[in-house]
Amino acid sequence: MAVEKLFKDEATEEKGERARMASFIGAMAIADLVKTTLGPKGMDKILQSTGRGRSVTVTNDGATILKSLHIDNPAAKVLVDISKVQDDEVGDGTTSVVVLAGELLREAEKLVNVKIHPMTIISGYRMAAECARNALLEKVVDNKQDAEKFKSDLMKISMTTLSSKILSQDKEHFAKLAVDAVMRLKGSTNLEAIQIIKKPGGSLKDSFLDEGFILDKKIGIGQPKRIENAKILVANTAMDTDKVKIYGARVRVDSMSKVAEIEGAEKVKMREKVQKIISHGINCFVNRQLIYNFPEELFADAGVLAIEHADFDGIERLALVTGGEIASTFDNPESVKLGQCKLIEEIMIGEDKLIHFSGCEMGQACTIVLRGASSHVLDEADRSLHDALCVLSQTVNDSRVLLGGGWPEMVMAKAVDELARKTPGKKSHAIEAFSRALLAIPTIIADNAGLDSAELVSQLRAEHHQEGSTAGIDVISGSVGDMVERGVSEAFKVKQAVLLSATEAAEMILRVDEIITCAPRRREDRM
Ligand code: ADP
Ligand code: MG
Repeated sequence: MAVEKLFKDEATEEKGERARMASFIGAMAIADLVKTTLGPKGMDKILQSTGRGRSVTVTNDGATILKSLHIDNPAAKVLVDISKVQDDEVGDGTTSVVVLAGELLREAEKLVNVKIHPMTIISGYRMAAECARNALLEKVVDNKQDAEKFKSDLMKISMTTLSSKILSQDKEHFAKLAVDAVMRLKGSTNLEAIQIIKKPGGSLKDSFLDEGFILDKKIGIGQPKRIENAKILVANTAMDTDKVKIYGARVRVDSMSKVAEIEGAEKVKMREKVQKIISHGINCFVNRQLIYNFPEELFADAGVLAIEHADFDGIERLALVTGGEIASTFDNPESVKLGQCKLIEEIMIGEDKLIHFSGCEMGQACTIVLRGASSHVLDEADRSLHDALCVLSQTVNDSRVLLGGGWPEMVMAKAVDELARKTPGKKSHAIEAFSRALLAIPTIIADNAGLDSAELVSQLRAEHHQEGSTAGIDVISGSVGDMVERGVSEAFKVKQAVLLSATEAAEMILRVDEIITCAPRRREDRM
């Protein structure tokens, strides 16, 4: 008698061919979804949530699009995941990695259909990926020694990263902002020191980089508007108890004067607390929580600038860049680390007043103020700029640079093709397929720009037949062009991550021969 049912309850399984089909289809569907956003002429997508608020995001960023999807297909989830990892690790290439993995699977599907075993495909893909990486390594340019050239490399990488984003109109301006900000970091990859502030109004071109830190708060009435050689105490403490609060507390008194007495006692306590804080020798007090009028007055009388209700991100960053620590008790002034900066002053951005801390302890600190027509524009600008900052900070450490515009893929495809010709056996089909998958990237870049991709890619292929060609897709003139001349460069690290993660993801999905969906185990089954 055959085993009717192996799994309990709601568990289902899909086997062999069917499971593989389901994986292929899911993964390819995801790749096709983000495909149209690839390249400088790629389109954007609107993501609308059906939850409360129906928030809308307009974006071109592969990782952002995929992150917001709820997906049921397990293979598709793998691709969403590699895109996320790519975003965290190197910041750019989030679309490319998914598209390449999708193409690798598309090719693999064809091979499986002609009865080549998945394991053969996998070992072919592995050889091809290794060969492709070596081909890139041979062509990398490293200008670390030459500061001038290196800066221009950074500038080009920055512009290439931004060219597919909303900032592409003003990409020179933003590329310069990003490069300047990253150069200040002096080799550290700690992007925390770069603060991005979004202020609706004005146009993207009005965005600027400022030294120091900007806190999105106003200076209260009667407080000093300008402080030199500031000693800053960053705190998270309650400063809102100079009155009896109605909620929670129950006070029974027989006359109003008793209430006044209690309030008086509270006031004395508050006065003591303020005294303690001031005795740290500070002239600026920044609190996460509210500061009521009475303590605020006391601070103002002592000539201390008190800023209330700063957001968490704000005080953490302020503590970081001024070299202080967030305090919540004030009994031991020695153990409290004060922040320092040369100057605090009020500045205007558009219609708003903000507080500017300059000459901070942490010299790298800087702020990029983004201006733009609407919050959607600003959010996308923020994401794009973050991509650029991320890639640049990586490039400062690993200064190997490649050309862009489909050039790396052509170089890799050529080397992989040669490998296929040398390799005997069925594996060579897989290696050949890998090279075809690589060619999909320039094809899609051209397609997305409304160009004749078949024509251009074959031209490109002919160009690359010559050793040392620098040809790529020039989307501006719509032809094959010199990428050195066009200034389209990319970081080696990004391209390497795209290649290796895409191959790994494809391999992982190829290995699947069974999908088992199970309901969570019930409580009584657990022992
Ligand atoms: P990703 O999320 O993968 O970074 P993008 O939409 O940023 O996707 O597109 C990146 C691709 O576009 C890269 O292959 C890059 O070489 C190419 N690219 C960028 N700028 C240009 C350009 N000016 N001309 C041709 N190709 C470009
Ligand atoms: Mg990009």
